[in-house]
Amino acid sequence: MALVTTNAIVLKSMRWGEADRILTFFSLRLGKVRGIARGARRMKSRFGGMLEPFSSVNLTLFDKRNDGLASVSQVDSLESFISLRENLDHIWAASCMVALVDGVTADRDSSPTIFHTLLEGLRSLARTDDPGLLTVIFQIQVLGQSGFQPQIDQCASCGRDVAAQSSRFSPSAGGRLCRPCDQGNWDYCLPMSQGSTAFLRQARRIPFALAARLKATGQVRREVEDIVETYARTVVGKRLPEKELLAAEPEPVPYGLV
Ligand SMILES: [Zn+2]
Repeated sequence: MALVTTNAIVLKSMRWGEADRILTFFSLRLGKVRGIARGARRMKSRFGGMLEPFSSVNLTLFDKRNDGLASVSQVDSLESFISLRENLDHIWAASCMVALVDGVTADRDSSPTIFHTLLEGLRSLARTDDPGLLTVIFQIQVLGQSGFQPQIDQCASCGRDVAAQSSRFSPSAGGRLCRPCDQGNWDYCLPMSQGSTAFLRQARRIPFALAARLKATGQVRREVEDIVETYARTVVGKRLPEKELLAAEPEPVPYGLV
């Protein structure tokens, strides 16, 4: 039983019963943690609008239950990122970011690196005029930080050097394949040119403040988007958000789950 205060970002916010919300946060001190905010949907709730997805908050949790669900005691808004909820491209991009962090992290496994990447990713998203490309760069970095670095210099199957070849990317193997391994391979693969390989190499380490300098157009852009999205979906093991669904999907009301 403990009271914990930490900076956190709201990954998911779900209606609960008549007046409550269940939140999934990615926090600096605890990593991914779920909490219930009692009365959060009442008109005069002390939480106000601070528990919307993508919000950056200072959070106090009371960890009193043994089912992993903490009780949200206090929230102070740090950055609301309200502009990220104003158009579909930004909603989709921010949803991809939080869904990837949710998908690649385990409960209560803190990672200050991923926390700061998410915070900087959302800040940069609020400024960029190319949310799609920024999302790809974010995905490449978080995949690397969570142990799923796409393998692009050696064959993901046999380890042979493939740095100087055009080849195909295997989402299930997590990287490029050399020609002999690709010929004996039946899994779904995507074409990966030298230009796309160079983009991935640069995107792994570029600070978001400089991300606008990293360009991807034409074939490289299509390849990189396909490779990173397919690989991220493979790693997470389920489909990440899609624009069309985000626009239409009502919020689920999961009565009776506790
Ligand atoms: Zn090989």
